[in-house]
Amino acid sequence: MRFISLTEDAVLQVQTVEIPEEGLSVKVTDGSWFPDREVARRGGLEVEVSFTRRNERISVVGSIDLVMLLSCDRCLADFELPKHIDFQVVFDLSGADPALTAREYECDQSEMDVIFLEDPVIDLGAILSQQVIMEVPRKNLCQNDCQGFCPDCGVDLNKNKCSCEVGDADSPFSVLRQLTTKKN
Ligand SMILES: [Zn+2]
Ligand SMILES: [Zn+2]
Repeated sequence: MRFISLTEDAVLQVQTVEIPEEGLSVKVTDGSWFPDREVARRGGLEVEVSFTRRNERISVVGSIDLVMLLSCDRCLADFELPKHIDFQVVFDLSGADPALTAREYECDQSEMDVIFLEDPVIDLGAILSQQVIMEVPRKNLCQNDCQGFCPDCGVDLNKNKCSCEVGDADSPFSVLRQLTTKKN
């Protein structure tokens, strides 16, 4: 396995001819690929990727470590979410022969998705960026039992208590209270 380091000056485009038979291991120290518009983060990025080639197939296996900066859906507080992302993408260089690729694809249905490359270049930055975006949670809670805001007075219930009696609607006292209110 050959090792290289892609630093800030490097372009995150890997020419497939540069991937040797024994494989290529890449440590990415450049963060220019990061989807800053879609995902906020705190601190650095740890990225390791290795390329292995078997005939016309190039397998890209890697990991990304980062700390996402998210905003809680309930109380709107910012919070940090450490993420370890493992990924694998397979590229196929034999796109010239559709009959061949169709046959190969059939054999590989149990495998992961295969991307057919038109040009002999792998855009590593695009792969990394896509992996991070796919890992952003749909639901963000600063803690599982985040109390959020009181719907009546708007106080942050994680930090303060309020005297509104929200949530007591099912209790017998609340029924009593409603009755008393009606009488008045
Ligand atoms: Zn929260
Ligand atoms: Zn309240």
